[in-house]
Amino acid sequence: MTSDQSTISRRDHVAGPAGATRLFAAGSADLASHEAAFGPLPAMDLALLIDELLQSGLDGRGGAGFAAWQKLASVPAGGRRPVVVANGAEGEPLSQKDAALLHNAPHLVIDGILIAGRSLGARELHLYAGAKQLVPVARALEERREARIRLHEAPDTFISGEAAAAISAISGGLAIPRDRTKRLSDSGLNGRPTLVHNVETLAHLALIARFGSTWFRGVGTGSAPGSRLITLSGNSAGPRVYEIPTGVHLTEILLSTGIELPSVRAALVGGYHGTWLAADQLDAPFSKEGLAPVGARTGAGIVMTLDSGSCGLAATADILAYLSGQSARQCGPCTNGLPAIARLFARLAYGDTNGKLPQEISRLAVLVTGRGSCAHPDGTARLASSALMAFAADVEAHLRGRCEALR
Ligand code: SF4
Repeated sequence: MTSDQSTISRRDHVAGPAGATRLFAAGSADLASHEAAFGPLPAMDLALLIDELLQSGLDGRGGAGFAAWQKLASVPAGGRRPVVVANGAEGEPLSQKDAALLHNAPHLVIDGILIAGRSLGARELHLYAGAKQLVPVARALEERREARIRLHEAPDTFISGEAAAAISAISGGLAIPRDRTKRLSDSGLNGRPTLVHNVETLAHLALIARFGSTWFRGVGTGSAPGSRLITLSGNSAGPRVYEIPTGVHLTEILLSTGIELPSVRAALVGGYHGTWLAADQLDAPFSKEGLAPVGARTGAGIVMTLDSGSCGLAATADILAYLSGQSARQCGPCTNGLPAIARLFARLAYGDTNGKLPQEISRLAVLVTGRGSCAHPDGTARLASSALMAFAADVEAHLRGRCEALR
């Protein structure tokens, strides 16, 4: 059965939104607007849902970017009843897209949870997000008494959104990651098979279940289909959330939002655990494949520009100081390595001209990578290493006692 044949009966006369503005197409957060825009909630058995997601090419929008179909397929059938967790915790200070989604389209996220949960035969459904984001979801759930979804408040810390930290918090523990060797799909919440998906991923899943994979692929590129939410900040502007066709070039994103390219010194792509790209690397497509050649990832869809009058080394030093203070201090690399990297980077950024600083930062970055119970050391090390590359001329200038940006 083709993916189109499998979904025809569920489309119920409502056409999928045209263009790239899909997730916010209802225009209002209430149930009537939601149903008018998207039609009724479809039911889908697991095999068809997995097939439709496979055809769609949807990947996770929370950061790691796993294929959505693969996560669903990896939840074992037969044994203990699985659990579904929607993760809307945005500990990353530069990300606001999940908050925007939960405030403007909570019913789409609820649909995604219900469709995934019913296909898996899950009885327990959970949504985990910051306190402010739970308010519109609770309001939406009052309109849908049949949707029994338990809400859990995520603390406002950088690592609270990590999947294992979310499971720990929901089960009453601290919101910190635990054993990275355990697969949540096998043994997650209370030892049950657990599907953890980012809320944006679930919202796309709800649309794919309604309108099919061919519709989903109507925007984006062949290897990076669909739309995605991004949070854009920098150049003296606060964070703004946009829905873009996946694979559009970074320069296009900046130009379409009114940012003039000569005013951009660099951009941090993928958030605080992301990668600095120099101005001449900004023509890369915003997709997994498009960013790979320049060593970057989409992460949770974050782009922060650095204006031409700002120092990238100082900006990086400030972020590293924040990140080193955000670990759970339960693993060696976080307890010792990250504060050391942050200290050395601050010296480089703020006046120490010791020529050995860059090598020592690089050495520590290699040393901490892959050594924690979660990816916090890896992401922090990636940020530090990418700054040394993207701002290589600034590093040379700082070691001569000058700053190229602030001269
Ligand atoms: S690596 Fe760091 S943040 Fe991750 S679990 Fe260990 S101490 Fe916590």
